[in-house]
Amino acid sequence: MSDSRPPLAPWIATQLKSLLAQRGHAWLLAGPSGLGQFELALALVSAWLCEHPSAQGGCGQCSSCHAIEVHTHADLFVLMPELTQLDLGWTVIDKAPDETQVSSDGDGKKRKPSKEIKVEAMREAVEFAQRTNARGRGKAVLVFPAERMNVYTANALLKTLEEPPGDVKFVLATEAAHQLLPTIRSRCLGHNMVWPDQNDARQWLQQNGMSAAQATVALRAAGDRPQDALAFAPIADMWRTLPHAVKRGDVSVFKDWTPALTVDALHKICHDALALKAGAQPRFFEPVDIPQSGSWRGLTDWAKSLALTMRTVEHPFSQGLMHEALVRQAQMAFNSS
Ligand SMILES: [Zn+2]
Repeated sequence: MSDSRPPLAPWIATQLKSLLAQRGHAWLLAGPSGLGQFELALALVSAWLCEHPSAQGGCGQCSSCHAIEVHTHADLFVLMPELTQLDLGWTVIDKAPDETQVSSDGDGKKRKPSKEIKVEAMREAVEFAQRTNARGRGKAVLVFPAERMNVYTANALLKTLEEPPGDVKFVLATEAAHQLLPTIRSRCLGHNMVWPDQNDARQWLQQNGMSAAQATVALRAAGDRPQDALAFAPIADMWRTLPHAVKRGDVSVFKDWTPALTVDALHKICHDALALKAGAQPRFFEPVDIPQSGSWRGLTDWAKSLALTMRTVEHPFSQGLMHEALVRQAQMAFNSS
């Protein structure tokens, strides 16, 4: 964890200012992934709890802002699945391991981090909402990604949302608002995440350590979602070479990639190959990067097969074998006639 948290992206700062200018004890920030829901949610609770807030947000200097930065604020309850906590570098505190989650492989392996927001954690959050605040600036509950609440968890939250104890505010951030209970949605003020201007996004990626060329490639690879584009930094230099490499059957380009990342890249290559064939613009690559080959049938079969693979990709039988099979499939599609 570093103290050099980058400044808020300009499109997040604008949205923060607009949210702070409105009254609301429960916000639902919604939009596709990669637009900065979590960053906006965190900036919002920081402003609520800050000792010297301005119309622009928290001051970033006071002890409250600092406590949020190091994840120890007594008046902030962050509800996230364990897997998201790991992804975001948020601490996983596992007080009472849930026996039902322990993997049954019998050789003492640790259980997998949960992808859901557990009902026990929600009960703790509800209890937290009833308590007196510690720092005199009220309390906040942040839920992300809110669609990871199951029906029990959501119902536990619902009562508190309906009759919130005086000093607690909520911000729910979601990448799939349609998966939330309508009763949850109707009790929050909705905010749709704004897509950033491409130039702003590229500039911001450069501030985060990418070259101008890498920023352009990464933004495109991430479908114009800047927060997602950050993850493409390490592969930005070779991204454009991928489609022709898989056409050659070169598995080595995916060395050290996770299966999920590989399938995502292949999905994008396949999407763009089909787009180009239909006379449309590719979305994730430059037109020149995509091999102009393969039959309709071959490419659409490939797309269907990738869609199936995406559902099981988190449990590959063997990463190496999986990569080989995936690349062979891509190669066949591009060489189909
Ligand atoms: Zn502050």
